[in-house]
Amino acid sequence: MRMYAAGQWIDAEKKIDVLSPYDGTVVDSVPCADLGDVENAMESAVRGARTMAALPGYDRYRILRAAADLIEARSEEFARTITLEEGKSLTESRFEVSRAVQTMTLSAEEAKRLHGETIPFDGAPGAAGKFGFTLRVPCGVVVAISPFNFPLNLVCHKVGPALAAGNAVVIKPATDTPLSALKLTEVLLDAGLPADGIACLTGLGAEIGDALCRDRRVRKITFTGSRDVGERICHMAGIKKVTMELGGNSPVIIMPDADLDKVALAVAATGYSNAGQVCISTQRVLTSEKIYGDFLDALKPKVAVLTTGNPLDERTKVGPMIREKEAIRVEEWVDEAVAGGAQVVTGGVRHGAIYAPTVVAEVSPDMRIFRDELFGPVVAVTRFDSIDEAISLANDTIYGLAAGIFTENLEWAMRFAHEVEAGNLMINWGPQWRADLMPYGGLKESGFGKEGPRYAALEMTELKLVCFHLAR
Ligand code: NAP
Repeated sequence: MRMYAAGQWIDAEKKIDVLSPYDGTVVDSVPCADLGDVENAMESAVRGARTMAALPGYDRYRILRAAADLIEARSEEFARTITLEEGKSLTESRFEVSRAVQTMTLSAEEAKRLHGETIPFDGAPGAAGKFGFTLRVPCGVVVAISPFNFPLNLVCHKVGPALAAGNAVVIKPATDTPLSALKLTEVLLDAGLPADGIACLTGLGAEIGDALCRDRRVRKITFTGSRDVGERICHMAGIKKVTMELGGNSPVIIMPDADLDKVALAVAATGYSNAGQVCISTQRVLTSEKIYGDFLDALKPKVAVLTTGNPLDERTKVGPMIREKEAIRVEEWVDEAVAGGAQVVTGGVRHGAIYAPTVVAEVSPDMRIFRDELFGPVVAVTRFDSIDEAISLANDTIYGLAAGIFTENLEWAMRFAHEVEAGNLMINWGPQWRADLMPYGGLKESGFGKEGPRYAALEMTELKLVCFHLAR
């Protein structure tokens, strides 16, 4: 495919091959954007920002609504594209497409809802006779940088709210998975988006990222990706608005009163989706000493049946990781834990880019599979004695994206809600759960700012204050 900037689909001499994570075959190729392309896209986006700001909310609603319908009409094509470039199973890709339709629909609705409020100036001393209100205005040019793991829906979570709020957007999709974002751009243009309202530059973050993030014409950066790249972007951004949706190593706490069959089902469902490459994937399973053995017995068969293989095969539950080197990294981390005294309960084998769904028990908090973000199809099980210890283990991390607890005890559930430092807290489910309308985002080094169209649209605006100084 070609990339899109300044109202045109453009090519470049230098190309990037998009490879199937499953068998390494070339799925397509895209241009490798350079700094000239960034400048071209920026000049156009500045014009686009003026056009978008002048577009009535109802027109922005209609464009986004039409885009949602077009994605739905092309849903099987989008699903196959996601599977081909990202490697998740077709079932998971179809689900991602249905979520993208939701995200764009929710964004369309926000285009009609952005508003300010009146300010009660007469409540301030000496301010009688003043009348004021706030106005929400678009930021202007928004740069949207997205990761590989949800190549459609996470782009929609940025582009939908940005356009709803009347901005122009420059998308920089992950180099591994640019095709879904390019197709989304196509859909938005078909839906009637002004030509300068969007650009989608395919190119290496390491080459064009700095230029995109430093540019003073950009008023807002919305980034989803790893902690380290996020930190670099924060340093580069200077004085502009930034949203950071970063990584995690999400814990789930299993209290002694939990229904173990339900827990095992939930851990198997929330630890291995997209081969564990989900930012809120269940990674650390903190299990009460009292039910530790019974829980492992319940979990093992539910994980062992997760079939791996070609993601285009309808029977496959868990596909490959994005690259073989990532599967090798996961293998190394598991081996390192085992060398330190941990035990593989099931899995623990690798074939190329496929790492078998794995449970590792007797994991201690000093091990890398506990401390860092694993981002692979492995859950690490650790014992605890009391709710105090469970909460302290859950919080023993730089991250704070999502967490879960299984218990029927209200006191424990409320302590979890108050004391666990995470943005999304699930009671009686694993951390990996999201409805696209909810406010979503992390605490601590998992980032700041919220996604979910209602919340993201607010973050894509600036607030102005207007005050009339009336003669009483
Ligand atoms: P990544 O390596 O950080 O890349 C994310 C994006 O940043 C890509 O588009 C990448 O481009 C770009 N990039 C790289 N270097 C850059 C630079 N110097 N300046 C500007 N952009 C740059 O992350 P990933 O491996 O694609 O995704 C996995 C990570 O995303 C995990 O940590 C996961 O937890 C996180 N994630 C978080 C959420 C959330 O909502 N909190 C959701 C999904 C994923 P290239 O591809 O060209 O390098």
